Amino acid sequence: MDTKDFYCDFVLNNKISVIKEAETATVLAFRHTRPSWTLHIVIVPKQHVVSISDMNSLSVIEEIFSIAKDLINKYNLNSSNYKIITNGGEFQDSKHLHFHLVSGSQLL
Ligand SMILES: [Zn+2]
Repeated sequence: MDTKDFYCDFVLNNKISVIKEAETATVLAFRHTRPSWTLHIVIVPKQHVVSISDMNSLSVIEEIFSIAKDLINKYNLNSSNYKIITNGGEFQDSKHLHFHLVSGSQLL
């Protein structure tokens, strides 16, 4: 049982309010609550899954990257910079699959 899950415990059950960037029936994209970059968006599946290796279906990945594509276009990130990051194992702080879409400068 995973106990450290910021997304199920606080975001997806609306215990904290977030600035939503995009939302579908299966995926939520929102501004990181403690951003590490000048633009820092988190994209999560609404259904709990720990990481890529635990996924039964990859259809939600298509949804996540479709939203990422829309956000890249919305913010015109091709003309500046961006990267999409997901972590696993010890690199993963919150044990719920999530992707960081980051751009701009890293905040120290
Ligand atoms: Zn979860």
